[in-house]
Amino acid sequence: MISEKKDIRALSKEQLRDFFVAMGDQAFRGNQVYEWLWSKGAHSFEAMTNLSKQTRAQLEEHFVINHIQVDTLQKSIDGTIKNAVRLHDGLIVESVLIPTSKRTTACVSSQVGCSLDCKFCATARLKRMRNLNPDEIYDQVLAIHNESMLYHNRPLTNIVFMGMGEPLMNYKNVLESIEKITSDEGLTMSPKRITLSTSGVPKMIKKLADDEVKFNLAVSLHSAIQETREQIMPFAKNFTLTDLRESLEYWYSKTKRKITYEYVVWKDVNDKKEDVEALVRFCKYVPCKVNLIEYNTIDGGDFQQADSEAIDTYIQHLEKNKIPVTVRRSRGKDIDAACGQLANKH
Ligand code: SAH
Repeated sequence: MISEKKDIRALSKEQLRDFFVAMGDQAFRGNQVYEWLWSKGAHSFEAMTNLSKQTRAQLEEHFVINHIQVDTLQKSIDGTIKNAVRLHDGLIVESVLIPTSKRTTACVSSQVGCSLDCKFCATARLKRMRNLNPDEIYDQVLAIHNESMLYHNRPLTNIVFMGMGEPLMNYKNVLESIEKITSDEGLTMSPKRITLSTSGVPKMIKKLADDEVKFNLAVSLHSAIQETREQIMPFAKNFTLTDLRESLEYWYSKTKRKITYEYVVWKDVNDKKEDVEALVRFCKYVPCKVNLIEYNTIDGGDFQQADSEAIDTYIQHLEKNKIPVTVRRSRGKDIDAACGQLANKH
């Protein structure tokens, strides 16, 4: 049920301080509540034990904490865990915990559904319902950290914005969530361990550079030939490779940080020599590395992963041109938790 009371996590620290002053209390109570909300991740006012009973009742009277609920949790044989997360208005998003030998990564969603139309992605079939609030992104991270402690006995180490949605189409809330996750008054996680993945929205990439963000940027490229990219990612008509390239040059000039290009090789789509050559050319504009992602099949899709020879050709050409390349194996496929498979199937 949607409460009439205001969600306390929509308030800034200043506003919390002001609330207490208006109540005839001391401003520093606002700091205490802020710490409970963003550093300790409190789910209830009851849990805020350094506040008096009366103060807690006062908070209860004015506010709610719209915390997410993990609706269903699925475990893969490889240790990957997928959460279907229920938001306060009943909508569902998914987030994934991916353990490897060295790290534990949270893959989080930034929107309910997606407004982009990548032909190979299951999320694209759900229309965009709404943006996630900063607290809803923060909660996914905390839920995964807790699951990592519970099931794998180790803390979360990395975060990738590679779940549902296009993070740069929810710019303000995504950046605010990262602020809460990284700040000293929040979860104190290093921004170097956070990667935002975008399908490539040039204007917003420039804005990231202007805002001097400290996290990493990954771009879902999939083709460096304009016509091919438009076929598989139709929105690319509006966000052309020329504009994308220019925005990435701008990003690098300001941040001096390498870009990661995510790239799936599909049979008869981008598995020819000219596709490889175009990628190599594109990679020379800005210091980068290439992450070749295994294709994860989606229901009713007509895409097919390319032959291993085609993938090897990519690797050879990239390496010959001194462009670092890695091949990413999919995780959690048996529970539809791999890249592009998040579609609320349950
Ligand atoms: N909108 C953002 C983040 C979500 S998608 C973006 O586009 O980057 C996260 C990654 O999964 C992207 O690189 C995307 O291209 C890739 N992806 C989508 N569908 C996929 C599929 N079926 N198999 C493999 N990767 C896929």
